[in-house]
Amino acid sequence: MPPVPAKSVVMKFGGSSVADAICMRQVASLVGNALPMAPLVVLSAMGKTTNGLFTAAHAAEIGDLPTALEQLKVIIQNHRRAAEDLFDSSVPDDLDHALTDAFGQTELLLRGVALLRELSPRSQDAIASFGEQLSSRILAAFLLHQELDTTWVDARNVMRTDNTFGGGQPDSEAIRELAKTSITPFLGPGRVVITQGYIGATEEGLTTTLGRGGSDYSAALFGAALQAAEVQIWTDVEGVLTCDPRIVPGALPIPELSFSEAAELAAFGAKVLHPATIQPAVEAGIPVTVRSTQHPQGRFTTITGEVHTGRSVTALASRGPITVLTVSSSRMLAQSGFLARLFEVFGRLKISVDLVATAEVSVSLTVEADTSLKALIKELSSFATLQVAENRAIVAIVGERLKHTAGLGSRVFGALSDINIEMISMGANEINLSIVIKREHEHETLRRLHAALIGSNDIGGTP
Ligand code: ADP
Ligand code: ASP
Ligand code: MG
Repeated sequence: MPPVPAKSVVMKFGGSSVADAICMRQVASLVGNALPMAPLVVLSAMGKTTNGLFTAAHAAEIGDLPTALEQLKVIIQNHRRAAEDLFDSSVPDDLDHALTDAFGQTELLLRGVALLRELSPRSQDAIASFGEQLSSRILAAFLLHQELDTTWVDARNVMRTDNTFGGGQPDSEAIRELAKTSITPFLGPGRVVITQGYIGATEEGLTTTLGRGGSDYSAALFGAALQAAEVQIWTDVEGVLTCDPRIVPGALPIPELSFSEAAELAAFGAKVLHPATIQPAVEAGIPVTVRSTQHPQGRFTTITGEVHTGRSVTALASRGPITVLTVSSSRMLAQSGFLARLFEVFGRLKISVDLVATAEVSVSLTVEADTSLKALIKELSSFATLQVAENRAIVAIVGERLKHTAGLGSRVFGALSDINIEMISMGANEINLSIVIKREHEHETLRRLHAALIGSNDIGGTP
């Protein structure tokens, strides 16, 4: 018998890691190797399944049932093909029934949406939840077939959220209690528990989701509930890199990242992590690692409380399109209470603001591109004027030692001498210097800043 570990490890596999049968075999082998660590596997939907389910739901909403069902057919084929490949065409009966049942329920929901021509966030969550249900059923059956001691757990029995459909707020206390009865009894060295990321349920049992990309968040929440030794995010890159490698091909792996750096990068667009992932892990003091499913022996990133590498700039991230609002009021700006009045309006209209920069007679703020501005314009018109600049992007320069780095500004301006910087903001925690530029310059800005601030030097530590 292997020694009993004090804690288990959470292994979250993203969509690209379970995209087809070949990927699933690789996942099964990684899980098999991790058995002594009592793994809890948290799975995303296969490949782009969630996108497909959203497309189907939106087609149904406009009454285009044939397109919705065609989209569902593609999803069914992908899952059937994966199952058949994994089981050499003899898919076990119980998996076959589980898949048939899930496809049937999805079809019923799509037909209902098409009939009513109404897609509420609640129906959308119910439809979207099938991606994770399907992928986890297939992998669980395959792990059993490999003779691993496997328990499939419905995440909705544990991941308790409020009823904010499309972005459920998790109830950590309830999740911890529910995990004690629905997960812990099945967890142990030599055994594997497999569940779904992204999906949860309200107290009444209604299906919710944590929002797009939410499986990372699920993994961190499960990790915190179980007091896991580590939360592993398995994906298609060798850890968090100094920039999105699709934009800067020379981006370098980062061996160590602090929780605050990771949180800033995620919030400012580094898709490799969901923005909220870090919080539950930080609170529970659990390290998060980001690893490559295809290169498990390769480099990876460890995210922990603090790092002391001495580097000044750790990584770059960007987010666009965003909208810049400039609020001016020559009458009121210099007077006390102006900003309070301004933000009271934003608060009341539930408009969330990312960056703020103030000048003598104006305040600039950035908001999401899809923010509805009608009510805001009306409310502000009584005491200020509003200018709106759309199609902008935020580029964030992140690093724990940013504030101690002399001359950073001149390197940024030097690299971007012919690109107009429309706004600059140093985050309150002083580890994030953000600039706003036109969206068309987003990628070029990242490439130039990467060359100027990070270059091709390895950025500290060995994997
Ligand atoms: P998963 O399906 O595993 O959840 P995602 O597509 O959500 O994977 O995240 C991985 C992707 O994030 C990578 O393929 C990469 O293109 C992108 N990405 C963006 N910024 C970064 C970064 N700084 N480091 C690594 N990957 C990044
Ligand atoms: N499948 C969900 C999505 O695509 C959640 C996730 O993969 O993190 O958004
Ligand atoms: Mg992801």
